[in-house]
Order: sequence, then structure tokens, then C-alpha cells
Amino acid sequence: MQDNIIARCEAKGLRMTDQRRIVARVIEAADDHPDVEELYARAARIDPRISIATVYRTVKLFEEAGILDKLEFGDGRARYEDAERNHHDHLIDMNSGSVIEFVDPDIEALQERIAAKLGYKLIGHRLELYGVPVKPARPTDKSG
Ligand SMILES: [Zn+2]
Repeated sequence: MQDNIIARCEAKGLRMTDQRRIVARVIEAADDHPDVEELYARAARIDPRISIATVYRTVKLFEEAGILDKLEFGDGRARYEDAERNHHDHLIDMNSGSVIEFVDPDIEALQERIAAKLGYKLIGHRLELYGVPVKPARPTDKSG
């Protein structure tokens, strides 16, 4: 089992203050892709004394330590997720902003083949798909 975020921070020698622990817990509990404001809102529910500046600095610290992945979904807001979450790619619904996680073995294999063709061994990738929902087809018009 993977270590939790607090354990990984301590392993990297980060000093874990109470407020940093709260931010770590919030990220640990997230199964979505919150931005700093959302992380702040969740952290403030645990400790109302926490400031958005603290959350911002903590997130940056965790990101620099490789504990968090920073994601960009095309709207100029940085989102974060635990860097140790199982690998997956993202599809962003451009109408609702919702984010769908997926893993596709064909895409994984294709990327490795492309890297190999270019003389590289693939060690990671990031893929974001942007789409709009396809409306269900209209019932066939029988009059024609
Ligand atoms: Zn994700």
C-alpha cells in the first residue's frame, strides 16, 4: 500500500505543521481535482483559522516535493491531485467542466510504441481530452 501524504512529506523532510497536515488530509480525502480555492474551502471546514495564503503555499510546497500533480484543464485554473494516485488520463466536459478519469490500454500501448519509434523508453505521460457531450440522435423521421 502506498504511504499517505503526511508520511511522504515527512520522508522528504518537510516540516509538518498542524495546518500543513490539514491540507494533506484534505488532499488525501479528495477523489476529484480541486483548485486552491476549493482546497481552502475544505480545509477551512476542518480549521476555520487556516488562510488561503497558507493553503496556497502548502500546495506549492507539496507540488515542488513531487507529492502533488498540478493539472491544467484549459480554463486557466490549476487543479491538484495526489501524485501517487493510480495512473489515469482525463476527459474534460467543456459544457459542465466535469472531469472524467479513464485508462485506455490502447492509448497506453500506442504512446509506448510512439516513444520507442522515436528512440525513447516512456516513463510517463499526461493526456487531457476536451469534449462536449454528444446529444442523443433524434428519432428517425418516418414521413420521408
Ligand atoms: Zn485525475
